[in-house]
Amino acid sequence: MSIQVLGYAAHQANDTLKPWSFERRDVGPHDVQIEILYCGVCHSDLAQINNEWFEGIFPMVPGHEIVGRVVDVGQHVKNFKVGDLAGVGTLINSCRHCTNCHKSLEVYCEHGVVATYNNLDKYQDNLPTYGGYSNTIVSNEQFTLHIPQNLNLAATAPLLCAGITTYSPLKHWKVGKGHKLAVLGLGGLGHMAVKFGVALGAEVTVLSTSPSKESDAKKLGAHNFILTTNPEQVEKVKSSFDFILDTVSAKHDFDFYLSLLKLDGIHICVGIPPEGIHIKNVGLSLQLGRRSLVGSAVGGLLETQEMLDFCSEHNITAEIELINIQDIHDAFNRMEKSDVKYRFVIDMQSLKATATA
Ligand code: NAP
Ligand code: ZN
Ligand code: ZN
Repeated sequence: MSIQVLGYAAHQANDTLKPWSFERRDVGPHDVQIEILYCGVCHSDLAQINNEWFEGIFPMVPGHEIVGRVVDVGQHVKNFKVGDLAGVGTLINSCRHCTNCHKSLEVYCEHGVVATYNNLDKYQDNLPTYGGYSNTIVSNEQFTLHIPQNLNLAATAPLLCAGITTYSPLKHWKVGKGHKLAVLGLGGLGHMAVKFGVALGAEVTVLSTSPSKESDAKKLGAHNFILTTNPEQVEKVKSSFDFILDTVSAKHDFDFYLSLLKLDGIHICVGIPPEGIHIKNVGLSLQLGRRSLVGSAVGGLLETQEMLDFCSEHNITAEIELINIQDIHDAFNRMEKSDVKYRFVIDMQSLKATATA
C-alpha cells in the first residue's frame, strides 16, 4: 500500500522543477500523514538542486519548511490527532539510539541523520526521501512538530528551518543581554536571527551588502545597520562584536568579518558557501583575537518544539512573500540576487491548478 502524491521535482542537477507524481509509504502505526498547506523556500533547496554540496538524488522534491493539517494517524500515535496543525522540518529520521539522539540532538546523530529530502531513509525502507514541494507527507510522530495555533500559518513555515537554524546557536552560545550580536546577511535565516537576537535581549547589528535593506533591518528590530561595502562604516565596528551569526550563502571573506570580533569573540557559521570556509591569515584573524570560528546545524526536535513555543509566546513569525508553486523559478532567481523579503513561502493550494491542468 502506498499514497499517491503530487509534487514539483527536479529530474537532474540544475534542472527546472516540473510537476511529478510519486508515492509515499502508507501511514504506519507511529506515523502521521499531513496535508501540506505551506512550504518555505530555503537557499538550501537551490544549493541541493544544483549539486552544490554533494551528488543529489534525482528526481528531487525539495522543501523542508513544511506546515499543514494532520489527515491520518497510525494506531499507536499518541501526540497527534486528525485536524491538528503539524509541521516537518529538515530531518525526518535518525538512529534514535545513539548518545546524541538520546539528547534530542538528532541532527548530530552519530550514525547519520536522514534529511527530509535528498537522502535515503536507511532506518526505514532505504528509499529516497521527498520534501515539501508536494501535497502530502508521511512522518513518524517523533519527527513531527506541533504548530502553534495563534500564529499566521504561512509565516510559521520558515520557522522549521530558518527559525531553528538561528535560534539553536543563539541559545547554545547563550547570546543575550549585554552581548553585541552581528547578523551577517539579511535573508531568510538572517531576518529570523535579528528577531531572535532582539527577543533574547542582545544589541543587534545587521551586516549587509544591500543598502536597500537598512530600513527593513530597523523595522525588524535591529539596533544598527552596517553596509559592509562601505569602509568608513566598517571601520567603526572593528573589534566590537561578541558574536557574528554568519548566514551568508555565497563565497565571502572570513578574515574581513573575523576582524570585527572583539577579544574572545565567536563567529558562528550557519551559512554554507559552496567554496567552503577559508581563512587566509589564521594568526591575525584567530590567535591574536583569541577568537573562535564555530558551526551549527539546524537543531534537534525538542529544541525545535521549544523554538515554536517561544515564537508562539513572543508572537514571532517570518516576513514572507507568498507564491504559487508555478512561480518557484522567479523566487529562486530573486533569492540568488539576495532579493528575498525575507522568505518565499509556497501556497500549496496552487498545486491543485497543476493537478487539474
Ligand atoms: P538567503 O535568504 O538567500 O540569504 C542569504 C543572504 O546572504 C543574502 O540575503 C545576502 O544578504 C547575503 N549574501 C549573499 N551573497 C553574499 C556575498 N557574496 N557576501 C556577503 N553576503 C552575501 O539564504 P538563506 O535561506 O537564509 O540561507 C543562508 C545560508 O544558510 C545558505 O547557505 C543555506 O544553505 C544555509 N543554511 C544552513 C543551515 C544549517 O543547518 N547550518 C540551515 C539552513 C540554511 P545581504 O543582502 O544582507 O548582504
Ligand atoms: Zn533550510
Ligand atoms: Zn543517532
